[in-house]
Amino acid sequence: MIGNRSIDRLSYLDPASPEPWASFLEQIDRVTPHLGSLSRWTETLKRPKRTMIVDVPVVRDDGTIAHYEGYRVQHTLSRGPGKGGVRFHPAVTLNEVMALAGWMTIKNAALNLPYGGAKGGVRLDPRQHSQGELQRITRRYTSELGGFIGPARDIPAPDIGTNEQTMAWMMDTYSMNVGGTATGVVTGKPVSLGGSLGRHEATGRGVFIAAREAGRRRGIPVEGARIAIQGFGNVGGIAARLFAQAGAKVVALQDHSAALVDEAGIDVPKAGEYVASHGHLAGFRPGAEVSPENFWLVPTEFLVPAALEGQLLPARAQRVETRIVVEGANGPTTPAADDVLNDRGILVVPDVLANAGGVTVSYFEWVQDFSSFFWTEEEINARLERIMVGAFDSIWAVAQERGVPLRTAAFIIACQRVLSAREQRGLYP
Ligand code: NAD
Repeated sequence: MIGNRSIDRLSYLDPASPEPWASFLEQIDRVTPHLGSLSRWTETLKRPKRTMIVDVPVVRDDGTIAHYEGYRVQHTLSRGPGKGGVRFHPAVTLNEVMALAGWMTIKNAALNLPYGGAKGGVRLDPRQHSQGELQRITRRYTSELGGFIGPARDIPAPDIGTNEQTMAWMMDTYSMNVGGTATGVVTGKPVSLGGSLGRHEATGRGVFIAAREAGRRRGIPVEGARIAIQGFGNVGGIAARLFAQAGAKVVALQDHSAALVDEAGIDVPKAGEYVASHGHLAGFRPGAEVSPENFWLVPTEFLVPAALEGQLLPARAQRVETRIVVEGANGPTTPAADDVLNDRGILVVPDVLANAGGVTVSYFEWVQDFSSFFWTEEEINARLERIMVGAFDSIWAVAQERGVPLRTAAFIIACQRVLSAREQRGLYP
């Protein structure tokens, strides 16, 4: 049985990696000098508005009782209800959820979506649980969050280890508790339950759009480019498919089980089918399995970390052989590694822009649920393209004007929006 105290929190991270919340605080410190008179409000971003820790007890299929720790953090609510995913992973901690909620504040504001920032998680390994157990865990976690979430309060969505089914259970549990169907309480639901067409693919599609736009400005077309992707789940898997369809060569893939390299280009649809039936990438052929560390050394034009945070540390940043890093994951690059990449002339398209396609289509889903009027996939993809390209243009322009990296530019735009809202609303009482 997985006892949630016995999980090795840092098994996948370099011990030199700062905790995610420390990275977020440092990013806020870096943007503060650019905020003029609004900088007097930045302390508000260093203190999550609300933090909830819940016990999630469950009767397992063998009759034993297990307890898991769950979290929901609402980082800011100044611009609208909280919005952010729910992660089921054995390494989830409050510190990580706080950082992920903070990044949601920045992302939603950078894309000008009418939301604050929030995130949730339960520390468990979903692969060790039956569907029945996962359903009971999800329902109990949702009930424990009680009135904390809701279509006008805080709207969860999928993240690592959760999916459309998890969202359906969350929606049903919330609806049962309030006595009426409330589709808008979560996004990333099945299309048959008020989900949006295009939501499943949206984050990977956004990563692809961000890479394409960055490549354009650096004179590196996606067509013919070599790509390495860490994480072959929802984000990495869809992005890989779109890169391959656009004529790029996915030369390296890494998931929790293996790192695979094939200079001729990995057959992405076949790798997807393999993972769907085996649950992992290990054993897929053709291609050579390399050590996880060697994955970072494969020469590429685009490197896409799309798994977990804290993956690009200074030592790896010093050695990666790429031109553009496109952050599919949240928080994969530490501030110190950012500096190394910047010094080496490697462009970093930050998470708060690169992976914002998911929350953008979540916003479309929430709007469609309110009006009970649903758009076509073409409409969704066209609107997503417009918002992503618009956000990329504005962030690029600020980066050029001020001579700062794209991450700082995205934080400048986002913090200006969040802190102006904070100032205009005024402090209560
Ligand atoms: P997922 O669960 O679908 O896939 C995660 C992938 O990462 C899997 O392939 C898994 O094998 C791999 N992985 C896990 N541990 C690993 C390790 N130690 N080393 C290498 N690979 C490992 O999750 P996802 O939804 O694709 O999310 C991936 C990242 O993207 C996360 O950082 C998440 O916060 C971020 N993100 C997701 C969405 C979304 O809509 N799903 C939106 C924005 C950001």
